[in-house]
Amino acid sequence: MTLDAQTLFFAMWASVTLTSVALAVGVGLGRSGVRAWNAALLWQSAGWALVIAATWAPGSGRITGTLGASALVASISAMYVAAQHFLRQPVPRWWVLGPPLLALAVHWLIYDNAAARICLINTLLATQLMWLAWLVRPWRPVKTGVRWRWLAFGALGLSGPLVLARAALVLWAPQAYPSFSSNHWLNVGGLLVNSACLTVGTLAMLLAHRDEAERALHRLATLDGLTGTLNHRSLLERGAEQLRLALRHHQAFTVLMVDLDHFKQVNDQHGHPAGDRVLALFAELLLTSVRNGDLVGRYGGEEFCVLLSQSDLAAARVVDQRMRQRLTEELNPLVGFEVNFSSGAASLGPREETLAQLIARADHALYAAKHAGRGQLVADVARGPVRELPTAA
Ligand code: GH3
Ligand code: MG
Ligand code: MG
Repeated sequence: MTLDAQTLFFAMWASVTLTSVALAVGVGLGRSGVRAWNAALLWQSAGWALVIAATWAPGSGRITGTLGASALVASISAMYVAAQHFLRQPVPRWWVLGPPLLALAVHWLIYDNAAARICLINTLLATQLMWLAWLVRPWRPVKTGVRWRWLAFGALGLSGPLVLARAALVLWAPQAYPSFSSNHWLNVGGLLVNSACLTVGTLAMLLAHRDEAERALHRLATLDGLTGTLNHRSLLERGAEQLRLALRHHQAFTVLMVDLDHFKQVNDQHGHPAGDRVLALFAELLLTSVRNGDLVGRYGGEEFCVLLSQSDLAAARVVDQRMRQRLTEELNPLVGFEVNFSSGAASLGPREETLAQLIARADHALYAAKHAGRGQLVADVARGPVRELPTAA
């Protein structure tokens, strides 16, 4: 079997071009991660077309070769944009534009030294690929799926060193690899593997896209759209789970019901959109005032429920105090008028209780806080009959 680099260039070109069209038709380009990946495929398509043109018309090599090499480098830059999107990381502009511009300038300037330019472009491509592999590494602690990252990491981790091997080959044996279209086994084998890795990369991107869509659906199903806190149903589900754990391990557990005071007036005086903004900011304040693992949910219109694990009434008082201080210092100056809230707390007593019973007690305390003049916390200190603790088996 003889493998020929030029045929592989053509196969790569056809493959990336068709994949790009298929992706645009089948998945659409609405999501920016997919769009960036498609841009990567189109840059590859342009890159391979120019590399083919450079080998067919060597006279124009300086222009077509330089543009082709830069397009291939730009393609990896676009992959970087896609990866950062799915990793939910920022995209510094110069990390994207820098490599292709560098390739453009350097390839043009050192065009007459074939070995140097081939070595340099391959080194640049390999650096990009391996850096990208490092960014998507599956063990990196980022909140995205790991399966797509394994695939991408495998594909990039295989491609990068192969491209680097080509750079090394041209450095140590320039006569064995005189041009991009050389039929040296390392060049041809590398092209084959790179082509396969690109397919795996597209698969990884589709998986990442699916993960993203699933996460969005999950968010829609569990979070309140306006405030980003848990919705009523998932608050009760997850709260019941936490309560079960607290009961099993004989730990403290406290429910804090929080309700904005005279909120109807906020709407009446400042308009419904201003009311919505206050609700969103207040929810943010709640979410950032509790510990990791505590739950904040929107219980009703302007009433929130905060579930504090391993916390007693004293701890709830501390949280409440912290929220009041932040309300005065941060939220009120931000919205430009004064809002306040009342709260009611109830802790798990010695008696076994359901979440609904605990919430009812906290709600009752909240009602008492409203009656006592609002803007304060009332704690339900009634602890009920002794809870029957499960006996050790
Ligand atoms: P209190 O101090 O007794 O709690 O008085 P209040 O006005 O806050 O209570 P009330 O139950 O009379 O009114 C609640 C108000 O909250 C009325 C309702 O329009 C408003 N509200 C509920 N949900 C939303 C929302 O999503 N956005 C906005 N802007 N307002 C909301
Ligand atoms: Mg209210
Ligand atoms: Mg209310």
